[in-house]
Amino acid sequence: MLKPFLCHTGVQVAAVLLTTIVVYGCRGISQPMPIVDAPELVLTTRVPYLAGQEAIYARGHRWSWRMAAENPPGSTQTPAHGSADLAWLPMAKRQCRTRQAAWTLTPAPPLPSRVIFTPADTTLWHAFRCRIADTKAQPVPLPKSPVDSPCYDDLLDLVEDLTAGYFDHVMRHWQDYPVPVRCGNHRSGEVDLSACLARAVAIWNRAEHAPWFTLDEDADWGVRLLHYAGAHMSPTLRVQLTRHDVHGDPVRMNIAVGDDYRTARDSTYVIRGMVHELGHTLLLWGHSRDRDHCLWGAAPPLVCTPSADERKAAHLVRDLPEGLDLKNYFRLSASGSDTASSPQAGRPAGRPPRKSPAPAHRPVR
Ligand SMILES: [Zn+2]
Repeated sequence: MLKPFLCHTGVQVAAVLLTTIVVYGCRGISQPMPIVDAPELVLTTRVPYLAGQEAIYARGHRWSWRMAAENPPGSTQTPAHGSADLAWLPMAKRQCRTRQAAWTLTPAPPLPSRVIFTPADTTLWHAFRCRIADTKAQPVPLPKSPVDSPCYDDLLDLVEDLTAGYFDHVMRHWQDYPVPVRCGNHRSGEVDLSACLARAVAIWNRAEHAPWFTLDEDADWGVRLLHYAGAHMSPTLRVQLTRHDVHGDPVRMNIAVGDDYRTARDSTYVIRGMVHELGHTLLLWGHSRDRDHCLWGAAPPLVCTPSADERKAAHLVRDLPEGLDLKNYFRLSASGSDTASSPQAGRPAGRPPRKSPAPAHRPVR
């Protein structure tokens, strides 16, 4: 069933793409030109690959699209809605973290416009809105993924909490992975702070196909341990984003610690705190409501390892496109109507202009 579908879709994609280029190519991408009786519009995209959701990637999916209410007055001319079919495209094996797919929007929406994508099967996908400026737009659908935590409905629910705050649900990335970590040689009384951080790095890297962090004392970017000798800090551990690039992506972060931990028995709590801090350095800047999570925010962490849910969240944040705004994703009611259950769903769509935010300090507890 799959092969004929893909073959047919491939031919259809090529044919429609040529038509689309002819239709849209000479208009210029900045002119809002509503099109009536327009042909199909084909857009390609990459979808994060979520382990445990393999069935989603084995077949095509029916969606619908409609013009979002926030389009400028006068731009909601017909066509204002239509179908949106998602078909998977062949890909190289090494692209294991994402799957390439093609949208076929029938009829084509006016360009540019803000469009809401609604899945036919609301148990498999989140609805979302996005701005389609031109034929290079890449609307990213997000599969639903269950979590173990009783505090969250699904993975998106958790990731929304974990990317709150400074990054405001917008995806940012390190220049590469693994992220270098400079532990240095720092002690506070009987506590080997550097060893505690190295231990936390090993905990995050454990059971991962590719490590999150690497110990590297010579790196000129990444994370480093900063010890304020003789100082007492509140909170006792914190992450400082001290340098970012022009896009707002991190270049340097410090894990800052004073001399509040002094005895050997404190090492357990320092390691827990370092695991928590390293979670923040993976751009999980917010906190979890689940007390079994290392990023629990109500008190010092009770666990010394990231949960499976937190690891899934970190993977998703790493694999979503830079600049993607999770505020544009929302849930639908069980009936499939567009009654959003997410508090973010009513927020205006569209990504704010990229800016260079001031470096941030994250008190950890
Ligand atoms: Zn924290």
